[in-house]
Amino acid sequence: MNRPDKSESARLNFWESIYLPEIAKGLGITIKQFFKFPKFTRQYPEERWEPTGSYRGRPVLVDDADGERCVACGLCSRVCPAVAIEVQASETERDKERYPVKFEINMLRCIFCGFCEEVCPEEAIVMSKDYELVFENKRDAILGKENLLVPIAKLEERLEFLRQFKNY
Ligand code: SF4
Ligand code: SF4
Repeated sequence: MNRPDKSESARLNFWESIYLPEIAKGLGITIKQFFKFPKFTRQYPEERWEPTGSYRGRPVLVDDADGERCVACGLCSRVCPAVAIEVQASETERDKERYPVKFEINMLRCIFCGFCEEVCPEEAIVMSKDYELVFENKRDAILGKENLLVPIAKLEERLEFLRQFKNY
């Protein structure tokens, strides 16, 4: 089979080599979209976007009626490809024996892959709908339990999504 000569196909003609017609073409498309209706631009932040349960925002810890679900097994920390999670276990009087005395996620490292959620045996860490992350310094980007624990009522949609699709 004859392969196309790369040097031939990469060669530009005169009009392509001066770029101007291509720039004008691009601007033409932009201007056409400008006057099109309906408009798809959202006036954020006045007009907020509400994601569905399938959305993978920042990972959070589930806080249910008995407190945090996490049993500090460390699986999420092991599986995290970005090495973003740090868990320190301690003993507790509660049924589950162990709990995370320290649980931190470095959001400068997190790539929102959802592996932590997938591997958790307790449905204790889930991806939330929160996509607004702003930090003024590196230290603020390391979220501890006080920022990670979210009441279960606010995570129902994600938990329902996981019940339906986690093992697909
Ligand atoms: S979403 Fe991925 S990168 Fe972020 S903490 Fe979980 S496993 Fe790590
Ligand atoms: S969040 Fe889940 S996987 Fe991570 S330490 Fe807690 S129980 Fe284990």
